[in-house]
Amino acid sequence: MTAISKKLLHWSVAAAASALLISCAEPTTNRDMVADDPAACRDNALAVQILGSGGPIADDHRGGAGNIVWVDGKARIMVDAGPGSFIRYGEAGVDFKDHDAILLTHFHGDHVGGLPGILNSGSFAKRTEPLLIAGPEGSTSFPSTSEFLGALVGKDGALRYLSSYLDNNPALPMLTIRDIETSRDDMQTVLRKDGLETDAIAVKHLEVPSLSYVVRIKGKRLLFSGDQSFLSETFEKATGNGQPDIMIMHNAISMADGQPRGLHRDGASIGEAAQKAGTKKLVLSHHMQRALNDREAIMGSIRQSYNGPIEFADDLSCFPVIE
Ligand SMILES: [Zn+2]
Repeated sequence: MTAISKKLLHWSVAAAASALLISCAEPTTNRDMVADDPAACRDNALAVQILGSGGPIADDHRGGAGNIVWVDGKARIMVDAGPGSFIRYGEAGVDFKDHDAILLTHFHGDHVGGLPGILNSGSFAKRTEPLLIAGPEGSTSFPSTSEFLGALVGKDGALRYLSSYLDNNPALPMLTIRDIETSRDDMQTVLRKDGLETDAIAVKHLEVPSLSYVVRIKGKRLLFSGDQSFLSETFEKATGNGQPDIMIMHNAISMADGQPRGLHRDGASIGEAAQKAGTKKLVLSHHMQRALNDREAIMGSIRQSYNGPIEFADDLSCFPVIE
């Protein structure tokens, strides 16, 4: 080896070592946002656990949208299954056998990108009960829930090796798929089972067929807003003074001038929706980095209308409703 190449080798080893030091100091995943004991949320009689608290852009270091309703140790409802919620699903100790339903709000990738992994994982779970998967009907630009699942695990789907989910093979639980109308302005019944009631409410998310969900159990009311714009009058009509015990809402846009306003509510609109619903607690999730950078202004805007407790969710945050 020549002196020059020795010098180059020494330089590249030193550069690699310093890069390693830098990467150790700057974690690529934000582990401090993850709860200390993520599997403890199930110990509550009733709780909402956020699996993924992030948005559609990877720069927020959070999983995509995903939520669990824990009832007496069982993850009975999952709302959305965004990318990253797959790993949080395991960390939270969720068992695929315990779901009464997986509820999808709409077919943007940050809300359903983790579903293939969760269905794949579920194929190992020895579940014997049919599983309800409910979501919106389709449009020219978006699939219906049955179209989406057919394209995923149907006999000609991308993951056709899992097609026994849909072809009545007893080796895997059948999926019961429900396409929910998005042009109605009333609450639509989704599920009634063992004291748990779930209804869907159509919401406006620009041109995307979209739903929010209400879950009622043990005398409590949980409200998952989904993604929605300030034009979602159906949501405000259907939830007006419903006094949910907890309302999960997105935190996607900053209050700065020039921010897009079409797909999501801004802080002022979130505050109005929370106040009209009369929620006892507002949880902000589905954070985008631009909104996290503008937290004070967003809080100020929400506070113009809503005076109740507000919490910012991280991945695996647990919100007990009945301890
Ligand atoms: Zn969306």
